[in-house]
Amino acid sequence: MKSVIFLAPPLGGKGTFSDYLIHHCGFTQISTGDLLRSEAEHNEELKAFLSTGAFVDDETILQIVEKELSKISLSTPIILDGIPRTLQQAKKLDIILSGLKRDVVVIYIDVDKKILLDRLLGRRICMKCHRSYNIYIDEFKPKVSMLCDDCHETLVQRDDDNLESYEVRYAKFLESTMPVVAYYQEKGCLTVLQNNDVDQTSALKSLLEVIDDNKK
Ligand SMILES: [Zn+2]
Repeated sequence: MKSVIFLAPPLGGKGTFSDYLIHHCGFTQISTGDLLRSEAEHNEELKAFLSTGAFVDDETILQIVEKELSKISLSTPIILDGIPRTLQQAKKLDIILSGLKRDVVVIYIDVDKKILLDRLLGRRICMKCHRSYNIYIDEFKPKVSMLCDDCHETLVQRDDDNLESYEVRYAKFLESTMPVVAYYQEKGCLTVLQNNDVDQTSALKSLLEVIDDNKK
């Protein structure tokens, strides 16, 4: 199975689809945020740096990702989360992935901005396991209202799920992520997934077809 990289606007469905692949298709997620936090537990310098909220340099992130990936069997399907954020990272990541003999399928989740804004108000998160739900979308509602299916914690709306902060994140997406989308398109490893339906069912179906096509 090829490794998966999702590229999407904020609230494009990346978290939802990643969760689906993890819970139903045996994927393991490699998240740069998680890796950095766990690395910082025994690295005081990194810990101090992370607390400033600044971005860690590419070399450090890529080294940590490479180390983690090299521990995981090639037969385990991987989702890369949090990387690549920039075109420069995408190019460096390519070298690492080809060195590890990991093929990658990049899935760009394309969503109209109006629909993204509609979704903004429905999202609820489990603070314990970070699984995300949407109280307006049947497929992603929790089984019991406002409780996480997995750990029964009360679901919450994130503070930054407001219009003002969304516009900042969306502008960042246009500036940093769209060049990465164009890069992979040119390389010929990009699959575009339209995800404009309210319930995301057809996008999920298409995603599973893409996953199926990339099984080896
Ligand atoms: Zn939970």
